[in-house]
Amino acid sequence: MRRIERGAIPLQARQELYKRERVATSQEKAREEWTKYRRSVKSKVVVDALKLAVGIRQRCLYCCDSRSADVDHFIPIGIDFTKAFKWANFIWVCPECNRRKGKRFPLDPTGAPLIIDPTRVDPWDHLILDTATGYLAPRFLDNDFDPRGEATLDVLACINFESVTEGRKRVIRRYYEAIDRLLDASDSPTQFAGLAREVREDEYGVSAWFALREGATEDKFLQLRETYPHFWRTFVRLALQN
Ligand SMILES: [Zn+2]
Repeated sequence: MRRIERGAIPLQARQELYKRERVATSQEKAREEWTKYRRSVKSKVVVDALKLAVGIRQRCLYCCDSRSADVDHFIPIGIDFTKAFKWANFIWVCPECNRRKGKRFPLDPTGAPLIIDPTRVDPWDHLILDTATGYLAPRFLDNDFDPRGEATLDVLACINFESVTEGRKRVIRRYYEAIDRLLDASDSPTQFAGLAREVREDEYGVSAWFALREGATEDKFLQLRETYPHFWRTFVRLALQN
């Protein structure tokens, strides 16, 4: 799971959404209109904008799997049909996450969604990464687990399926190896380019964990910060853009 910037869509696409929204006056009509819209070539610009935001392999925003993800409504039509055509309500998810989220969409006592929307909040505010296993867990706050982190992992259990934790572990291992090479190198700029490449290719959002969260206190990353402060700062900036 990783934070992404949603970006904007062209005026014409916004007008098209608005036109459809005016027709979608009930839950049933919203579903009907949505099906028509997705079959129409006019939805392509919205799909392309979401694909651009999620990156080259178009991985699901939740589990980071790349199996045929598609546009989903963050707040499901069954809960609030008035958001069926809101650009801010579209997210890119795989069929498995979509199915699980469609069945359960817990709300807090104020009626706000508990599942994390990674286009609005940084998932690392609510989750922690176990770098040894690749597992995500809810953060522990004052005296209990973070309710948003907990609800997200309860509903979207596929975030911790083996295929995904193995993917995270692979990315983590690549960071460790890139830093080892950099710390051992005589030609540090070349080796730093290797670390920078890992950040660009990181589709699990792990770079932000190491640059900005608890991961930054691991020995290797502390050593990087002490030995090459300027490379460290570039690493942090790259992670912020990832
Ligand atoms: Zn998924």
